[in-house]
Amino acid sequence: MDYFLREIEGKQVHDPLFMENNNKKNKNTVWVDGPVIVGAGPSGLAVAACLREKRIPSMILERSNCIASLWQHKTYDRLSLHLPKQFCELPFMGFPSHFPTYPSKQQFIEYLETYAKRFGIRPRFNETVERVEFDAKIGFWRIKSVHKAGVTTEYVCRWLIVATGENAEAVVPDIEGVGEFGNPIRHTSLYKSGEEFRGKKVLVVGCGNSGMEVCLDLCNNDATPSLVVRDTVHVLPREMLGKSTFGLSMWLLKWLPMRVVDKFLLIVSWLMLGDTARFGLDRPVLGPLQLKNMSGKTPVLDVGTLAKIKAGHIKVRPGIKRLKRHTVEFVDGRTENYDAIILATGYKSNVPYWLKEEDMFSKEDGYPRRPFPNGWKGKNGLYAVGFTKKGLLGASMDAKRIAEDIEQCWEAEAKYKTAFTRSHLSLQPNS
Ligand SMILES: Cc1cc2nc3c(=O)[nH]c(=O)nc-3n(C[C@H](O)[C@H](O)[C@H](O)COP(=O)(O)OP(=O)(O)OC[C@H]3O[C@@H](n4cnc5c(N)ncnc54)[C@H](O)[C@@H]3O)c2cc1C
Repeated sequence: MDYFLREIEGKQVHDPLFMENNNKKNKNTVWVDGPVIVGAGPSGLAVAACLREKRIPSMILERSNCIASLWQHKTYDRLSLHLPKQFCELPFMGFPSHFPTYPSKQQFIEYLETYAKRFGIRPRFNETVERVEFDAKIGFWRIKSVHKAGVTTEYVCRWLIVATGENAEAVVPDIEGVGEFGNPIRHTSLYKSGEEFRGKKVLVVGCGNSGMEVCLDLCNNDATPSLVVRDTVHVLPREMLGKSTFGLSMWLLKWLPMRVVDKFLLIVSWLMLGDTARFGLDRPVLGPLQLKNMSGKTPVLDVGTLAKIKAGHIKVRPGIKRLKRHTVEFVDGRTENYDAIILATGYKSNVPYWLKEEDMFSKEDGYPRRPFPNGWKGKNGLYAVGFTKKGLLGASMDAKRIAEDIEQCWEAEAKYKTAFTRSHLSLQPNS
């Protein structure tokens, strides 16, 4: 029954009279035969490629003017993949062998461009999805998308794949006195290079991978950075015993329980980096893998920042109490002047802003409510790719599962369609 209702709706949107009436109501409606994917980052590309391999057409809507907009527009120049390339490849295509273990941002973008070409993926750019709702009467998703040029389109589809990512919007903390500070305050998504801060005193807020790396970049460009560390943090060497720390951990986890692997990582880190607490970087009680598993908090993989902290080139500071003109007052009562503040305060999902659905995604954080590995599928043909807190590896796993799931439905509906068409043809006079 569901299928036939959808068939009627499908015919309606192809019907000029229906469309004319619809357009009179200022609605530009497009029926999409296949899934609609929201977001053309690595996750969106991965799922489109997996569908394509199963001969299922899909359409990607992307608010930016290019694929992987996070990487092209919102990351700093010196960025390389944090994890070795074999853990970052998308389905069906590895990185070129001449790429280094940790490809640069430019190389990663090049890889994604080649990937999109190879699988014939051509997203609709400059389309911001503003509202999506499931229409239970017809069994379809209705997607309201606004093009940069101001045109609003309603896409109607059977399957909706959310690929807007864990980093869709910058998180900007509410700091008292922001209006008074007077010098530049910038989120890392707008930071390109330390060059523009040469000779300046800069406060970096947040000690994740981005904050640590921005501090290093500032140091290398003769700026004087301080790093605000409010929380405990695990800093691990990026490589240990001649292997990537990530790869080694994955391998050890095959044989040993997580807490034992954590112990091992902490001992080797202590031997290689010393006691990080001595430099103001206290470790959490839980080990790095257990913490990542329970809260999603990623350990920092050190690429040289710690040596700069030890040498006194980067100062560690506690939380900010308030800002005054060109001055920062810290919670320990100390005040210091700064020429700029960089907020390495992370990102958040934007799903609750546009997806009118309460079952699969949490309203609080915009992530699927069910944790990995079960967060990829919701009801009524709704899917999520890239919300696993497990980087590109997690996104690739989601993408394959989603394509397999849709394939089953797609094949069943194709059989219905054939039967439906045949029965219609047999009713024609000369068939
Ligand atoms: C600095 C940094 C380094 C990282 N390094 C690694 C690494 O080395 N290895 C790893 O595995 N992971 C890494 N990650 C984590 C993660 O894998 C990447 O962020 C990756 O880009 C996630 O891909 P995605 O497609 O899920 O999200 P994104 O790359 O964020 O793509 C989502 C897309 O959706 C679009 N979009 C959002 N909202 C809408 C809307 N309403 N309508 C239309 N389009 C919309 C966005 O414009 C964007 O293009 C890193 C993250 C960051 C921030």
